[in-house]
Amino acid sequence: MTLAARKIRLIMGLRQSGITDTKVLSAIERIPRELFVSEPFVDQAYEDRALPIGLGQTLSQPQVVALMTQALAVRPRDKVLEIGTGSGYQTVVLSRLCRRVYSIERHRELLREAERRFLELRRHNITTRCGDGIVGWKEQAPFDRIIVTAASEAPPAPLVAQLAMSGIMIVPIGPQRGDQMLTRFTRTEGGLEEERLAPVRFVPLIPGLPQAMSTMIAASDDSDVPRERSGHE
Ligand code: SAH
Repeated sequence: MTLAARKIRLIMGLRQSGITDTKVLSAIERIPRELFVSEPFVDQAYEDRALPIGLGQTLSQPQVVALMTQALAVRPRDKVLEIGTGSGYQTVVLSRLCRRVYSIERHRELLREAERRFLELRRHNITTRCGDGIVGWKEQAPFDRIIVTAASEAPPAPLVAQLAMSGIMIVPIGPQRGDQMLTRFTRTEGGLEEERLAPVRFVPLIPGLPQAMSTMIAASDDSDVPRERSGHE
């Protein structure tokens, strides 16, 4: 079966499983998922499964990307913050639906690869940063939508603070290893409203930067990047 035929099969499967937002489906249809994986996985690019992207991280399953994107209810004028760029696939899906995506990734190597893909696909409304996404992106706040693509025990407080009033945030909530519950938070005058969407399995949200990189940054003079919280891997 050709990649094109597999892609059609995938889209049909997503529809059947409850993805009804045509904007989300058409974004997924337009994006070549095979560009987001390494050569040995190209054949599996349109299977409904998560795929490895190196450094122990994964490109999320299409079903989960679709569900999260649909639940985020992104509007054309929205400013979206994503934590965990990874391969950049979810970032590109979002970039087709909103005004601008700000995306933070703690692994510089993964971020470089993702940025190369954004250029190749000519996505010009994506701004990235290498750092600890748990602290958010204060200079650009507030955000209309926030999506966290790694698991956390609770919604990180700085992200809640950077969410606009009536804004929506999606986070896989639960233990770092094992099942989590994909949860949608809506910021209201009365506080955070919470809605459980589906059980999922994500890699953990890890504070700080990977060890080697923190040492490098501490030795340089880049005051924009957090340096204290390292060595959590
Ligand atoms: N949406 C991505 C999912 C990647 S997996 C994709 O579909 O490709 C989750 C990503 O979150 C990993 O790349 C991991 O390095 C990153 N991550 C984990 N903790 C983080 C943190 N505190 N700040 C930023 N990125 C983080």
